[in-house]
Order: sequence, then structure tokens, then C-alpha cells
Amino acid sequence: MVFRLLRPDSNSVWNIQEIANRFPRYKSIIDGNKTARYLIARTISADFKNSFSDQQLEELLSTLSGEFKQILTLNQKEIDSRKIQKPNYIDLVETLAFHYLEKCIFCERKCGINRIEEETGFCFLTGDSYVASSFLHMGEESVLVPSGTIFFQGCNFGCVFCQNYDISQTWKGKREISDIAKSVDKKQLASIADNLADKGALNINYVGGDPIPNIHTILGSLNFQTANICQLWNSNFYLTSKSLSLLIDLMDFWLPDFKYGNNECAEKYSGIKHYYDIITRNLKIIHDEGSGEIIVRHLVMPNHVECCSKPILEYISKETPNCVVNIMAQYRPMYHSSNYPEINRTPTMQEMHEVKNYADMLGILWKPVS
Ligand code: SF4
Repeated sequence: MVFRLLRPDSNSVWNIQEIANRFPRYKSIIDGNKTARYLIARTISADFKNSFSDQQLEELLSTLSGEFKQILTLNQKEIDSRKIQKPNYIDLVETLAFHYLEKCIFCERKCGINRIEEETGFCFLTGDSYVASSFLHMGEESVLVPSGTIFFQGCNFGCVFCQNYDISQTWKGKREISDIAKSVDKKQLASIADNLADKGALNINYVGGDPIPNIHTILGSLNFQTANICQLWNSNFYLTSKSLSLLIDLMDFWLPDFKYGNNECAEKYSGIKHYYDIITRNLKIIHDEGSGEIIVRHLVMPNHVECCSKPILEYISKETPNCVVNIMAQYRPMYHSSNYPEINRTPTMQEMHEVKNYADMLGILWKPVS
């Protein structure tokens, strides 16, 4: 296949035993030997009414999440024999997502506005979701290629060095979003995902901007997608615990950014509070309670090896050791970087070596995906 010619490492990477050991379920789904989580969730009945309170829905979700984890332990023949239910687990999380959208608490900015009523918060998005582009991405980490990538317009961060500022920031309040991205409902999003699966994608990769403001649409699409394909959350991970509880059972693979090793650098460059506390909280949850199949993306920033790169690697080696880390050298001074002289350059070779050597010293697996 052309994919294998363009990225031969996407095949050979699976010969590395440590990679096969870290991502066993993901690989089994790719090989057609296991069922993607979202398809299993569709076989779990959810007995609820739209009039239920948040608390009632959340309690039911907690019960069904326990049921989901039990089903995951069944053998494949037993899972294959299960029938789709209506309403099901996906309907429940979609309904809860719409409750959260009415007072938006999708991310930790907690703007509290009613996006269904067209109010907008920091991300500038109403209840509508917009796809800027979707395609088979050949440049992602070796185990993910070809990745069925869906770029959503809009972001809940305000990074001064944003590399995708055209879809995340600069349109806000200046341009009609419908001029630059396509509005999609849950059925249209499912159709995009199915199309990518048909073309040979190994996963459906939700990214942006950031997918967090679009949780409701993404969850809704899971009752309409048809392929047995891995669902992948590629995000800044600044989502609330409530939002994460909607996704935790459904994502087969996680691709969290982990940029800053402390709260102060995050506030200075991305305009967000309590970054380190929130990201470590969420990372621990997906590691311990989710699929646990994770590649952390760490973008090495100039002059931030001591304050950011090293504390991040230390945290991962101690608290979430199953994570594989992509140590990224792609930082480029863009957008408003020139206002911050200390980050207005690419990282040096010496800085990259220092971070990689530190990862080796801590026993972190990074080379096959970096
Ligand atoms: S998703 Fe957007 S509106 Fe909702 S809390 Fe985050 S920034 Fe605010």
C-alpha cells in the first residue's frame, strides 16, 4: 500500500516489542481481532429520560461505566454476540454533554454560558461544530499512520506561539466562521469518519484547534459511525473531570499535549490557569481508568528545558509510566512569539539532546514515536 511506502516505519514499528506491549488493544482493533470501545458502548442499554437532572444522569453513567468495564473482560465471541441497544450508553453521554453545553463546562475555563442559545465564551463557538479539514495524515506518530484526522475550528487555549492560529485564534470576531470551515452535525461528522475509514485510516483522530468544545457533536456521531475503528482524542487535555467522564470509556487511544511543567509558564504563554494541576489530573485518569494506551506529545520550547521539559518527564516516569512520549522538536516562533524574546527561536540541538538524554535516564520510551 502507498502508506507503507510513504511511511515504512508505520509497519516496522510494530516489530518493536516494547511498542507492541504498550498498545496491545489498539493493535488488535487495527488487525480486526477486537472491537472498538464505542461499538461496545452501543450494546449497553441506558434507561433514562431527557428530563433527568445532571445528577441522575451522572449516577446512571457511573453505573453503566462499571458495566462497560465488565464487558471489556469478556472474550471476543461474547462481545460479538451482543446486540445494539436503544437508548444506549452513547445516547446517555450525548444527553449529558448537551446539559453541560447549556452552561458550558466542557473545559476548565468553565465559561458558564449557554452555547445552545448562541452565547459564546473564550473559544468563540456556539453549539455548532465546524470542521476546517479532514484527511489521511501521514505525518503523525508511526503507530498512528495513516491517521484519519479531523481538524475542528476553534480552541479553548490562547497560545502566543500557536502553529495553527488560522483555525484556532485569528478568525475570532473578525471573520464569519462559515466562510472558513464547514458546519457539521453528528451525522455529517460520522460520514466524514466513515469516509476516512474507507480510505484506510487506522484511527479517527479528533484534533483542532481543539476537539474539547465539540464533545457533544463527536459523542453524537458515535451512534452513526459504522467502522470498527479506533477512536483517538488528540487534545490540549484542559477538559473538566465531567467532560472526561463522558469520553473515558469510549476512546481507544489518547494523544494529550503536555507542554508546560508548571502553572506559571502556561498562564504566561497560553493564558490559562492551573494548567499543570489539571493536565496531570486528567493524564492520571486516562492512564489508570481509561484505555491506558497513550502517546504524550511534549513540544520542547526554547529556554524551557529546566522549568517544563524535565518536570514533565519526571511526572510521566513516576505517575504514568505506560505512556510513550513523542519528544517534539517542531516548535517554531509563530503568531505572537516575537513579543516574547525568550521563546522567539527554535530549540537548539543542545536543548533537544538534553531533553532526550533526560528521558533515557528516566527510562521513558520515546524513540519509536518521536
Ligand atoms: S469549551 Fe469554550 S465556551 Fe466552553 S468552557 Fe471551554 S472555552 Fe468556554
